[in-house]
Amino acid sequence: MMILIGEVTLFIFLFLFVIAIIMAVLIVTSIRSGQVFFPALLRPFLVLMEGFVKSICTFLGIEPGELLRFLIRLDNRMNTKAFADIPPSERAIFLPQCLRSAKCPAHLTPEGLVCVGCGRCSLGTGIPKMKSLGYHVFIIPGSTFIKRMVKQYHPKAIVGVGCLMEVKEGLEMCNRIGLIGMGVVTVKDGCVETIVNWQDIFDVIRIGIDPSSIPKDFDVSPN
Ligand code: SF4
Repeated sequence: MMILIGEVTLFIFLFLFVIAIIMAVLIVTSIRSGQVFFPALLRPFLVLMEGFVKSICTFLGIEPGELLRFLIRLDNRMNTKAFADIPPSERAIFLPQCLRSAKCPAHLTPEGLVCVGCGRCSLGTGIPKMKSLGYHVFIIPGSTFIKRMVKQYHPKAIVGVGCLMEVKEGLEMCNRIGLIGMGVVTVKDGCVETIVNWQDIFDVIRIGIDPSSIPKDFDVSPN
């Protein structure tokens, strides 16, 4: 009996090990090619074996940042269809306060910072564009605001902008609480005057919206 249990345990261990290697090879191939292969297969296995698969990817020469970026892309890809089905009025976007100017005059309120459009940073022109599509827009100093605003406004889908770790953790939170999440990673991180590629935000927020209802100059990136 003990031998049988030992053999079954060994078989399960070997099976999981082989699966983890296949997942890691799929991830490495996806990262190298810029595509996402078998996302529906990758995601559930990654939830179960993320740590192990990460270790193999590191062994295969994938940088932790590259892997995080891929995991965010995978989540976005998997959530795109569900996100498209939610009208913008039931979506919210959370922008990190570090995107604003170091001389920002906005005051902190219980709903985050309220931009007064002073023109010192791109948020002043970017936020009205998002609102024009129907989004609830928040500039937040920390992730606790997301939870509070989600409780208060009950959006069905959210877009989170931030550095790699913030976006990854935000998407994990969305998965935990059953919220549809899409992530946009900033191109320069840090604590002040970070930079986002506005086209990355526009590409996400316009998903599922009838193109004819989007203003012609919508894609012009704010300065
Ligand atoms: S445009 Fe808005 S967010 Fe940017 S610095 Fe001015 S008030 Fe602050």
